[in-house]
Amino acid sequence: MNQIMVRKIVPLLFATFVLMLASFLPANVVHANSLSDIPDRSADEINYLIDKGTVTGYPDGTYRPKNSVTRQEAATMVGRALGLNGTKRSTSFPDVSSSLYASGYIQSAYEQKIITGYPDGTYQPRNEITRGEMAYLISKAFNLDETTGNKYSDVPNSGALSKAIDKVSTAGIANGYPDGSFKPQKSITREEYALLVARGMNPKYKVDGEDLEVIDEKVVSTGILNVRSGPGTNYSKIGQLTEGAVIKIYKEIGSWVMFAYNGSTAYVHGAYIMDKPSNNGGHTIAIDAGHGDHDPGASDNGLVEKEINLDVAKRVRDYLNNSNINVVMTRDDDTFLELDERVDYAVDHGADTFLSIHSNAFPNNEDVSGVETYYSSAALSERAYDSYKLAHFIQNRVVEAMNAKDRGVKDIPYRVIHATPLPSALVELGFVTNDSDAYKLGSSYYRDRAAKAIYLGIVDYYNWKY
Ligand SMILES: [Zn+2]
Repeated sequence: MNQIMVRKIVPLLFATFVLMLASFLPANVVHANSLSDIPDRSADEINYLIDKGTVTGYPDGTYRPKNSVTRQEAATMVGRALGLNGTKRSTSFPDVSSSLYASGYIQSAYEQKIITGYPDGTYQPRNEITRGEMAYLISKAFNLDETTGNKYSDVPNSGALSKAIDKVSTAGIANGYPDGSFKPQKSITREEYALLVARGMNPKYKVDGEDLEVIDEKVVSTGILNVRSGPGTNYSKIGQLTEGAVIKIYKEIGSWVMFAYNGSTAYVHGAYIMDKPSNNGGHTIAIDAGHGDHDPGASDNGLVEKEINLDVAKRVRDYLNNSNINVVMTRDDDTFLELDERVDYAVDHGADTFLSIHSNAFPNNEDVSGVETYYSSAALSERAYDSYKLAHFIQNRVVEAMNAKDRGVKDIPYRVIHATPLPSALVELGFVTNDSDAYKLGSSYYRDRAAKAIYLGIVDYYNWKY
């Protein structure tokens, strides 16, 4: 074990002759700050587990770190850590009856192949758990896969025990004694066990003591990104992120990144995340919801363009508010502005880029459908090329998100994108006159997809530009 465990523990001058209930009983929850005997060296880990409801103190306000851990207590603690079903019930073991408080966790852990019984089919719930058994349990519970080879004098170089101890050591969850041994037959204390479970749940408690610091923030750039428990596809999937999610990165491991996830850490592949625009440039984009008030824009299939444009624009604003990009809205309610007023408003409010959001119509042919984006090259300038790039980034993202026909980027000098000093584009999300497009334009799901796509297209643009 680490140095923590071999250091002499100052004996507590505390004795009680009252037979206490097992400390893992849920009924005995005692808050961390009231436990009198938590050693300073493991206080962070034990308090973390108490806060998470994974371990509890004894009714007398103690934790009793030196007490050994029974096999039923071990199953309970891990079961709680993993959120397994702890409802008391009959089990696969003849010596674990449904009345035993840990029966639910024992059966759940057994079904998850986290624990096994003895060769005679029993579980021996009251036996103390050994360090070797703990290694099996922890390696299974936390899906540890990585091995680096046995390094302990008293552990064989092959076999299941060796592999389990190798896994918990490689993961930085347990290590051996200073004399080079691991002592797999030794029983484990409540303090030691808490350290192991805390390290399994949250890498910040690991043996190598890495202080996790956020080194970067990135944005998920693919529709759905699997979150894994370790840096590789062989690790179990523990969740998903969707496009546009911002993640705080702790470190890069090969082509994977470790990031903050649900109060702990997890991993995603680095190919599906992209830079978040830095705040250094003070980027500000103007989002212009086309039409408004007495000017409804296109309408068909029960849809009114001004309402679609505004709803999507607000959703874009919400995505941008979670990024480093500032946003100004030419309108955020059902009001009307002249085209020049929209441009002026953007310039006056410090925008460096302008995007207008519209929906299309083709009254004489309901078969016409798809997404198109305009820019204006009429002025041969850097602004024109920036506008062209902006239009392409938006177009590519929105076509994919709407799963619609790609009508391309078009060079048309509409006033709102032409008579302006800002790089500007105008996206047409789809046709209210086409059944399929109209369904999407009316759906909250697709409006959100469109907004996220626009947001990502804006991020693409700033990443390209700066
Ligand atoms: Zn329009």
